[in-house]
Amino acid sequence: MSRVLIVEDEEHLAFGLKLNLEAEGFAVEIEEDGQAALNRLTATTTSFDVVLLDVMLPGLDGFEVVRRLREAGRFVPVLLLTARAHADDVLAGFEAGADDYLAKPFDLSILLARLHGLLRRQSWLHSSEQTGHADSLDEFQFAGKRIDFREQVLHWDGTEQPLTLMEATLLRYLIKRESQTVSRSVLLEEVWGVRQDTDTRTVDNFIARLRRYLEAEPAHPKHLQTVRGVGYRFVAEPAQSDTNPDTAD
Ligand code: CA
Repeated sequence: MSRVLIVEDEEHLAFGLKLNLEAEGFAVEIEEDGQAALNRLTATTTSFDVVLLDVMLPGLDGFEVVRRLREAGRFVPVLLLTARAHADDVLAGFEAGADDYLAKPFDLSILLARLHGLLRRQSWLHSSEQTGHADSLDEFQFAGKRIDFREQVLHWDGTEQPLTLMEATLLRYLIKRESQTVSRSVLLEEVWGVRQDTDTRTVDNFIARLRRYLEAEPAHPKHLQTVRGVGYRFVAEPAQSDTNPDTAD
C-alpha cells in the first residue's frame, strides 16, 4: 500500500482528499503546516512514497518545504498543488525540487493519474534490475562522471549530487536514446506523462539544471545539446569541435 502525506492547511480540502485517496487504496496522513511537514518528512522513523504539497501554507510555504527537504537529502516524490498554474510558480516549484505540479482546483481522476505516474516512475527507476525490463539502465558512466540511477545520485571527483526523481528519469530517458534528438513535447509525454498543453519551459528548466550538474561549462554544453527548433539530445563523447552554444532558448 502506497503511503501519501497530504500537506494542506485547508481542513475540508485535506480531509476530502484523504477520504478519496483512502478509497483508492492509499494509506494517507495529513500535516497542516510547512514546518511540521518538513519535520515529519526528515524524521528517520517515517517514510512516505509520495507527498501532496500545497504551496500556500502557514509557516514555511510549499516551495521552501521542498527546497529544504532536498537540501536534507530527502528525495521522496513531491507533487505541488498550486493555486493557479502560473508559469513562474511552476518553474519555482521545479527549481525548488518538486517532481510534478497540479493547479487547483483539479479533478480527482487527474490527481490519481499524476500520483500513479509518480509512483510508477519511482518503482520503474528502482526495480529495473529485478524485472529485467527492456528499458533497464541502472548505471551510466561518461566524462569522469557516474550516474547511479537506482540511488538517484551523480558521482564525480568524490562529489555526490542527488537527483530528483524527474531529473533522474529525464536523464535516463535521454541517455538511453543517445545521439537521438527528442522533442520537448515527446519528453513531456514520455517522461512527465503529460500532454502538450503543459508549458514546455518545464523541459528547458530541467535541462538547465542537469547541465549545471553535468557540464564543465553549462553555458556551452557538450553532452546535453540543444537542437534548435527541435529539442534535445544527449551525447556521451562529443567530438572536440562539437560544442553547442545554442542555449538561448
Ligand atoms: Ca493552503
